[in-house]
Amino acid sequence: MLNLLDQTSDQLRGWFAERGLPGYRARQVWRWIFARRAERFDQMTDLPGQLRQALNAAFRLWTSRIAAHQRADDGAEKLLVEMTDGQRVECVLLRDDRGHCTICISTQAGCAMGCAFCASGMDGLARNLTSGEILEQMLRLQQCLAAGERISHIVVMGMGEPLANLDNLLPALALAASPEGLGISPRRVTISTVGLPEGIGRLADENRPYHLAVSLHAADDDLRSRLAPANRRWGVAAILAAADDYFTRTGRRVTFEVVLLGGVNDRPEHARSLVERLGGRPALVNLIPFNPVAGLPFAAPRSADVARFADTLRAAGLAVKIRYRKGDAIDAACGQLRRRERGQE
Ligand code: SAH
Repeated sequence: MLNLLDQTSDQLRGWFAERGLPGYRARQVWRWIFARRAERFDQMTDLPGQLRQALNAAFRLWTSRIAAHQRADDGAEKLLVEMTDGQRVECVLLRDDRGHCTICISTQAGCAMGCAFCASGMDGLARNLTSGEILEQMLRLQQCLAAGERISHIVVMGMGEPLANLDNLLPALALAASPEGLGISPRRVTISTVGLPEGIGRLADENRPYHLAVSLHAADDDLRSRLAPANRRWGVAAILAAADDYFTRTGRRVTFEVVLLGGVNDRPEHARSLVERLGGRPALVNLIPFNPVAGLPFAAPRSADVARFADTLRAAGLAVKIRYRKGDAIDAACGQLRRRERGQE
């Protein structure tokens, strides 16, 4: 049986057309799922009974189950979502004091990039998620919202490397952006990548103003290759060239993320080398203090070092944001909840 959410809008319209039915039926189905939060076809009461039965026979509507649900005092909620084959991924809802509801979703079960400090890649890549499985995380998180709350932003910063699964991510984001789906503007969607130049190029080809975030961590190739081994293949120069090209073609300012690891990449010389590499760009640098992962030989940076690092970048004219940790109580660094539930932590 097909997963309904794996169908693009065109495919679903095609399914109706093959049965001699008008295209607006597809719109009605999406509306039930995305806006009215229906969980079963028999709730779609403005569709003829026979049609509901035919849909029910052809498509599955939910393929995942929630294996764990955590809530933190700051309003963050985290779900561990289990797919039909037992693979588990994490997704998160973050609420801020401006009324924004940001969801963070995963694109792969596991990850092949092997970043030294990240929990998600510790067991390698199991598989890509389908576009339906990516959308299902959005819907599951939407179900956590109170009346009156709406998803305002999507960050693709959960488990996995999004640009290694663009074939499934792009259709999911297209439906999320469409008025038939969640109606979230691509400008409010951030895609975070370890820095795959080809994938960045493909994303630019999409011609949609997604916000791109590149996980840079260090400007120097030796150190960056130690922290993010994918760097060995491409190198910092190629990644920055792809990011510059993305900015030129989309007009969207690129964010560079730096996970600060105490004593490893948080020293004044590391800040200076970032300034040298990034200087002159209209870039935003997002400093992320490391969220400790059991079993990994890294420590959180001292807050004085984070502040000094930020000052050095700012003094050179770069825009800087420090990502204060949210949802600490709920294992918010991606991959940590999954490991704990498996007894690996
Ligand atoms: N593969 C994508 C998405 C990964 S998660 C990427 O590399 O960007 C999003 C961000 O969280 C990345 O910048 C990643 O480096 C960072 N991250 C991973 N583990 C972390 C941890 N334990 N503490 C803080 N940030 C972490």
